[in-house]
Amino acid sequence: MRRISVFGATGSVGESTFDLIRRAGGAQTYHTVALTGGHNIARLAEMARELRAEIAITAHEAHLPDLRALLAGSGIEAAAGAEAIAEAAARPADWVMSAIVGAAGLVPGLCALRQGTTLALANKESLVTAGPLMMQTAELHGARILPVDSEHSAIFQSLMAEDMTRVDRIILTASGGALRDWPLEALQNATVKDALNHPNWSMGPRITIDSASMFNKAMEVIEARELFGVRPDQIEVIIHPESIIHSMVGFCDGGIIAHMGVPDMRHPIGFALNWPERAPLPVARLDLAKLARMSFAEPDMARYPALRLAREAMAARGLAGAAFNAAKEIALDCFIGGTLGFAQMSDLVEASLAAVCTEFGPSDAVSGLDDVLAMDELTRGRSRDLAAKMAGNPVGAGL
Ligand code: NAD
Ligand code: MG
Repeated sequence: MRRISVFGATGSVGESTFDLIRRAGGAQTYHTVALTGGHNIARLAEMARELRAEIAITAHEAHLPDLRALLAGSGIEAAAGAEAIAEAAARPADWVMSAIVGAAGLVPGLCALRQGTTLALANKESLVTAGPLMMQTAELHGARILPVDSEHSAIFQSLMAEDMTRVDRIILTASGGALRDWPLEALQNATVKDALNHPNWSMGPRITIDSASMFNKAMEVIEARELFGVRPDQIEVIIHPESIIHSMVGFCDGGIIAHMGVPDMRHPIGFALNWPERAPLPVARLDLAKLARMSFAEPDMARYPALRLAREAMAARGLAGAAFNAAKEIALDCFIGGTLGFAQMSDLVEASLAAVCTEFGPSDAVSGLDDVLAMDELTRGRSRDLAAKMAGNPVGAGL
């Protein structure tokens, strides 16, 4: 029986993964090693019982007694905390879903790669933070990373029968997020609720806000560079409001292969779950005649400074990706907490990134985990301080 684990099982990607596992026969088909979650331990326990998991882990120590109580009599182990999650990721499994949100997904992802598993990677933050380390670890341990982000799954699928040396460019599509059609000057007044109103995709709250600010696409540009080994100048971003083309690859002969479908994460998740087979999935079929037209536009760089900042982080290499992600996570926390305006998020990331790049300089060395985690922590501290100074400053005024 195939052994599987799902990290971040109670989230948006985790629920879609669970849905596909259950439809494929659940505990009859898969042996579930570990499931992890956060505050929603009732749901975590329910999933663990249904899949007869070996162990269920909450990120929060305070929930452990309640999780134990919920699992009493089931024979399922209960555990809590980041260390327990990392230990569970080191338990042998054939397929591991990495769907924790944020840099918290990095260590579990690395632990899973070290045991040579197939890692279905939704957690883009681990590639932004430590892409070279992730790719090197996979290679060293004979593990495989399968992209789950819809754009990167689309690119992966477009490249399946292709020679990378014949690739000219990768074209990432972006819906433009919830605030795409807002006047530029109104963006400073956007609330969390406004930014959460995504037109096409149903996702967790953090990635949905990142879609509105385009930080999500900025991270995906870095993710594409790491996964496919292309140069930054070979990666383009195009606004495609309908989210039907999930991304494209352009080849040296001028041809473009595009991956299309309805926006439903169960496609890329299911593709990764069934790989190398292509199996039927419960995804709606695209009706092109009903769709009638698709549109495309160049992203407005004044509206989306995140795209420029990702390019600056890629140019700096070294630990700049770790700094970029950490500053972005703090900026997002501050926007959600009401202490920074929507447009101030990119001001904060810009200031944090500039400070780090000046201090540490460019580097091509593959950073080890300790250095990555130290940079993550350093940038979080500095970004919090910067955010405190910025709070109350006029939007766009910088520091
Ligand atoms: P979500 O917020 O819905 O779920 C996150 C999961 O991680 C939950 O199980 C939560 O309990 C857990 N978690 C949160 N903080 C944690 C911590 N500190 N330690 C351990 N566990 C923690 O998020 P999501 O939308 O499912 O996204 C998950 C990842 O997948 C993100 O990296 C996101 O960028 C990526 N992704 C999501 C989608 C999508 O459609 N939702 C699409 C592409 C990529
Ligand atoms: Mg995506």
